[in-house]
Amino acid sequence: MALPRPIGQPEADATGIPPQNGDAGRVTPIAAGETGRVTPMMEQYQDIKAAHPDCLLFYRMGDFYELFFADAEIAARALGIVLTKRGKHLGIDIPMCGVPIERADEYLHRLIAQGHRVAVCEQLEDPAEARKRGAKSVVRRDVVRLVTPGTLTEDSLLDARRNNYLLAVARARTSSSGDDSSRFALAWIDISTGEFRVSESDRALLPAEIARLDPGEIIVSDALYGEPDLAAFWRSLPAVTPLARDVFDGATAERRLTSFFAVSTSEAFGALTRLEITAAAACVTYVERTQIGQRPPLSPPLRESAGASMAIDQATRGNLELMRTLSGDRRGSLLDAIDRTVTAAGSRLLAQRLSAPLTYQARIAERLDSVGAFVADPATRAETRSRLHAAPDLARSLSRLAVGRGGPRDLAAIRDGMLAAADLARALASLKDKPAEIAGAMQACRKPDGMLAAELSAALAAELPAFKRDGGFVREGYDKALDETRALRDESRRVIAALQARYAEDSGIRILRIKHNNVLGYFVEVTAQHGERLMSAPFNATFIHRQTLAGQVRFTTIELGELEAKIASAAERALGLELETFERLAAAVMAQSVNIKECAEALSILDVASALAHLAVERDYVRPQVDDSHAFVVEGGRHVVVEQALSRDGAPFIANNCDLSPPPQTGAGRIWLLTGPNMAGKSTFLRQNALIAVLAQMGSFVPARRAHIGVVDQLFSRVGAADDLARGRSTFMVEMVETAAILNQAGERALVILDEIGRGTATFDGLSIAWATVEHLHDVNKCRALFATHFHELTALSGRLDRLHNATVRVKEWQGDVVFLHEVVTGAADRSYGIQVAKLAGLPPSVIERAKMVLAKLEQEDRAAPKGFEDLPLFAVPQKAPREKQETVEDSLVAALAAMNPDDLSPREAMEALYMLKAKLTGTRKP
Ligand code: ADP
Ligand code: MG
Repeated sequence: MALPRPIGQPEADATGIPPQNGDAGRVTPIAAGETGRVTPMMEQYQDIKAAHPDCLLFYRMGDFYELFFADAEIAARALGIVLTKRGKHLGIDIPMCGVPIERADEYLHRLIAQGHRVAVCEQLEDPAEARKRGAKSVVRRDVVRLVTPGTLTEDSLLDARRNNYLLAVARARTSSSGDDSSRFALAWIDISTGEFRVSESDRALLPAEIARLDPGEIIVSDALYGEPDLAAFWRSLPAVTPLARDVFDGATAERRLTSFFAVSTSEAFGALTRLEITAAAACVTYVERTQIGQRPPLSPPLRESAGASMAIDQATRGNLELMRTLSGDRRGSLLDAIDRTVTAAGSRLLAQRLSAPLTYQARIAERLDSVGAFVADPATRAETRSRLHAAPDLARSLSRLAVGRGGPRDLAAIRDGMLAAADLARALASLKDKPAEIAGAMQACRKPDGMLAAELSAALAAELPAFKRDGGFVREGYDKALDETRALRDESRRVIAALQARYAEDSGIRILRIKHNNVLGYFVEVTAQHGERLMSAPFNATFIHRQTLAGQVRFTTIELGELEAKIASAAERALGLELETFERLAAAVMAQSVNIKECAEALSILDVASALAHLAVERDYVRPQVDDSHAFVVEGGRHVVVEQALSRDGAPFIANNCDLSPPPQTGAGRIWLLTGPNMAGKSTFLRQNALIAVLAQMGSFVPARRAHIGVVDQLFSRVGAADDLARGRSTFMVEMVETAAILNQAGERALVILDEIGRGTATFDGLSIAWATVEHLHDVNKCRALFATHFHELTALSGRLDRLHNATVRVKEWQGDVVFLHEVVTGAADRSYGIQVAKLAGLPPSVIERAKMVLAKLEQEDRAAPKGFEDLPLFAVPQKAPREKQETVEDSLVAALAAMNPDDLSPREAMEALYMLKAKLTGTRKP
């Protein structure tokens, strides 16, 4: 059903207070004066509000959306707009605030971002219609849409490069058995693109699944929301909406889902479990309730089998900075470093693939084949990318048209997208070997009917307005009736120009002007000094006074009124004809929506494949060998992000090898124990190998000379003493909780990265925990792992654990300073170089000297009588440090600067570093 067009005119005032001129048509009165009587409009408002108690109600009045009562107070505070009072309700002032409709998107955006939901209530008839029913009758209004974080379609409310998922989580009713046995189903849709997926999960995997999808909004039943076991979890997530039970009712789910898609049985979607159907039905019911009768073109729900993608929990995602950095920015993340896509849809697909690396070797190979084909053919790659540049966001335009929120530019986007796709299919014909994925995409690119694009080209003007209500988007010559009406309208405008000349002539007022505004329509305007003249005979017979302003006086005339009516009716007729054309074209587009959607998907697939190829060539990546073995061999591996950061400064990245493959005659992978001083490059090495696994399995080439990865099905990464003060937990507690999660969950195909676990407590505690953790990983989890530690003692374990390999990052000592070579070699670090690093960091020379003495003493005491020291240093230093030459100020400044890595500093650390540098300079200048 097409909703009546919202009407922008202010309605007749039901309270007797006249509309305010000069206030852009804003009408404000809503309630009766002092009597305490409830006006009809207030009654209407309260009925509508009562139906949407959990939403802020945007109540359309003329050119504004007004908010009243508590809503007004909340919105005024959230948006920083003025809270006013209008009228009284039952004797009490009504708080009110409003937003102009043309800026509504911007305000909606801010309210949604702050977690509010908004019900948009429109005027559904012309105020003139209402007046026909009697002077006091109220314009018909109703809510046409609920705006929630998970159901957005407007470009201005969405990030073009990210999917915005609405996720429904349903749980199977468990018997009296423990919670761990309960099953969960997830269903998620992106209503702006039509994507619809379902999967099952258990309690342990639920957080990782939610982290992977990173939804804009989560819906759950009231009951599940209130579950004591999950309450804290739901609260830790950004936008969780508890809903009445009926939305998650298993008994009606099948019927709701099938009726949405107009199919007779859910078997049409393949084998979905009852629980999955419940979650999927919750999604469509929520869409129906928020979109109020409008249907986004959702694809049928597609099942994602559990285990199809690498399980990566929230902590690991954060830690590896896959989608965003620890500080929450896209810049500096892995995604940002590998994104060479040229379309928004391609960027979204890349993000999707990166957040869910595959585990099926054959599907990974398919994607790698596509990248390989584009790597091998630079000319076709360049051509593909330049054609994609011209392809707009088909999926999002299609969704907007489907829910009645599309504009002329969306029609143009559909046309341009289809044309770009057809061109692209032709261009790809020259590709030498066409892998399956590319061949499939080419076919999809050719699917939309060329006639539709031709029709759109013929109909649409060159310059298009943002909204269809603005008119002027149908090309001249396309619709004869429209051209005639427009001519009439334009002719009348010429008549007005002539009229102005005649009036000026007759009255002798040369600066007389005919102007137009929304309140008065066309009017004659003269300066105050000429006003008197027109108000006296004989001119007052023609000029009827309308308004006196500070400097001007305004008049109307009978002729002008008639002309105005003519122009208005011609303009209205022209707009009506244009809107008819719009609806017809939109319907033609919707008739091909399935083909257009497939075409949109194909474009994003081609974008991702050619972009990854571009990246591979640009940065010299190789195709990884991915199979079902337990191998993990990386030769000449590099860290994607660090390498790019260093190359911007012209510095080289030192490539390193890693081999976690099972030793001969053993089934399980190796653990590398990595020791070496601070700043040597341990953390970088650990992460680069995890990132290479992620890249390989998402179907990308990798930064290495050679890589052989046996499919990784779980990835864990933890850093000791991670600062988690925000969540109010002790850092050591966090470290242990996370380590426990790994030791309890990691299976034989897992890849585990542990960086300095045990650092958050006293040395002996920490060492003991690290020790036991390595043993557990080796004997119980039997997974491939990289373990960086400053506990040198752990290297002794390699004598006992046959799959434990000691590695260290080489450093060189030069004139008493430590030089980092960033080269990973077999063996164990001999010393910590802690004091050298402290010196580089700029500790005062006296402190450094003193530390060396203490260390030397500790060394002796240690051997003779280890008692009395709780935190022993764990690395040996030479007994006699060479005596150093006196350092100059410049030396120490240069050394301190060299030791700093601006990318690693928090703003506060950067401040401190600056103070430290300054102190070095001024401290030594003192006499
Ligand atoms: P650690 O964990 O041993 O303290 P990091 O991995 O944090 O050391 O590395 C410290 C810095 O050294 C990094 O920020 C990076 O600039 C540099 N670095 C690390 N590995 C390399 C490498 N392989 N090549 C070049 N520079 C590196
Ligand atoms: Mg480190």
